[in-house]
Amino acid sequence: MSDSTENLGDVRPLYLNGQWSRSGQPLVVTNPATGKPFARAATVVRDDVRRAIANATAASPAWRALTGQQRGSFLLRAAAVLASRTEEIAKTITLENGKPLAQSRGEVGMTVDHLQWFAEEARRTYGRVVPQQVANKRHLVLQQPVGVVGAIAPWNFPLVLAVRKVAPALAAGCPVLLKPASATPLSAVHLAEAFDEVGLPAGVFQTVAGSAQEIGAEFFANPNCRKVTFTGSTEVGRELMRRAAESVTNLSLELGGHAPLVVFDDANLEQAVQGAMIAKFRNTGQSCIAANRVYVQRGAYDRFVEAFARQATALKVGDGLEEGVDIGPLIDRAAVDHALRHINQAVEGGAKVVCGGKRIGSDDSAFLQPTILTDVAPDALCMREETFAPVVPVVPFDDEAEAIRLANHTEYGLAAYVFTQNINRAWRMAEALEAGTVGVNDAVPSTSQCPFGGFKQSGLGRELGSEGIEAYLETKHVSFGGVE
Ligand code: NAP
Repeated sequence: MSDSTENLGDVRPLYLNGQWSRSGQPLVVTNPATGKPFARAATVVRDDVRRAIANATAASPAWRALTGQQRGSFLLRAAAVLASRTEEIAKTITLENGKPLAQSRGEVGMTVDHLQWFAEEARRTYGRVVPQQVANKRHLVLQQPVGVVGAIAPWNFPLVLAVRKVAPALAAGCPVLLKPASATPLSAVHLAEAFDEVGLPAGVFQTVAGSAQEIGAEFFANPNCRKVTFTGSTEVGRELMRRAAESVTNLSLELGGHAPLVVFDDANLEQAVQGAMIAKFRNTGQSCIAANRVYVQRGAYDRFVEAFARQATALKVGDGLEEGVDIGPLIDRAAVDHALRHINQAVEGGAKVVCGGKRIGSDDSAFLQPTILTDVAPDALCMREETFAPVVPVVPFDDEAEAIRLANHTEYGLAAYVFTQNINRAWRMAEALEAGTVGVNDAVPSTSQCPFGGFKQSGLGRELGSEGIEAYLETKHVSFGGVE
C-alpha cells in the first residue's frame, strides 16, 4: 500500500456467500472531480470466483424452488432499503462517477423502480399449453431459470445498470455474481448491503470486483456459470462473444451507441432544444443513449444552433456534489483526452466550434466545456465513434429521406430521437429508424416496463420490460404421450 492510500479508511468489502470479504489487492477508487483517491475496495482472484460460482450453484435449488412472489418480496424489501438510503447512496455514486448529485438521486430512484418492476414480473414467467397434433398427446412449454449468472456492469450508471441484470435474474430464480467496473466498485457495496439487510439467502447475490480478464475468464470457462450478461463497450462485447463461442455460453450484450437526434422544421423548437440538451448533456454525455449526432432540417437550423449553444453555454460545470451543477467531470482525464481528440480532428477537417471545445482547469483535470460543433465532415471521428462526452456535432439536412439515411448511417443502433409535430412523419420515422429505442418528442424514453437494447452492433437481447426477465429463462417443451 502506498503512502497516498493509507488514509483511505477501511477497504470496502465484497459480498461473498453471505459474508463480507476484505481480501485481495485493493482497488483504489478516485473521485473524478478532484483526481484524488478517496476509497479502496476489495478484489477477488480467479479461485475466489470459482468458489463463488460453486456457492451460487449450491444456493440455486432452494432459490429457484421459491415462488415468484416469495423471490419478489426480497426485491421489494431491498428496494425499500435502497430508497430509505437514497442520500447516502447518491453521494457514493457522485463521488465515484462524478455525475451531479441530483442525477445520482435519479439513478437510485430508477434502481428502486426496476427492483419493484421485476419483483412483480417474478410472478409472470408464464409458459403455455400448446394444442396437440396427435390426439393422445399433450404439450406444455415451461419457463425455467437458466442457472447461475455472471453479470458485468459499466461505470457510467454504476447502480442502475447493474440492477437491470441483477433484479430480473433474481426474479427468474437465478443466483447472480455481479462484477462492477473497476472505476466504480462502491455502488455495488450498497446493493449488497440492501440484500444482506433483507436476509437474501447466502450465495444468491455475490459481488466480485478486480481483474476483468480473470473474472471474465472464469465466467466463460466454468460450466456452472450458465449465462453471462454484459453492459459496456462494443469492443469488449465482441471479445466476450468470441469467448462465449468456445463454451457456447448464453450471452446478452448491451453495447455502445451513437444516437442520432433528428429535428424537423415542423418541430416545436423549444421542445427540440430542450430534448437535445437532455439527450446530449445528461450524465455529462457519458450515456450509451446520448445523442451523438444532431441533424436539423435547414429551415430551423440557424435558430436551433443559436438556442442550443445559448443553453449549453449556460450549463454550470463543476463538482457534482456542489449545489446547482449540471455537468460533472468525465470519468477521468483520459476520457477528456479522447473527447479532445474528436474535437480537434473535426476542427482539422473544417469544423467550427460554436461553444466550448476546451478542457477546464489543469492538464490533469477531467472537466470539459460543453461543446457544440458545426460544419463537421461526415467522416469525422465524432460522426462515427462514441465520443462519450458533452460534445455534439449539429448537421443540416434537406428532407425526410436524407434524415433517415444519415441517422441510420452507423454500425450502432441503440437509441434514436426525432422531433416533429407531424403525426404521420412521427410514425414513418419511428418505423424507419434502426434503433432499439426511439424517442418521439421524448429525450428520456427509458422506463422499467419497456424493453431496452440494441440493433446492429449495439448488442444482443433486451433488458427491462417483460423481455427483461426472459433473458434469464430457458424454454422447455414437455410432451405427454399416451393420454387416454
Ligand atoms: P468497458 O470498458 O467495455 O467495461 C465494461 C465492463 O466490462 C467493466 O466492468 C469492465 O471491467 C469489464 N471488462 C472490460 N474488459 C473485459 C474483459 N476482457 N472481460 C470481461 N469483462 C471486461 O465499458 P465502460 O467504459 O465501462 O462503459 C462504457 C461503454 O458502455 C460505452 O461504450 C457505452 O455506450 C456502453 N454502455 C452501454 C449500455 C447499454 O445499455 N447498451 C449502457 C451503458 C454503457 P473493468 O472496469 O475492470 O475494466
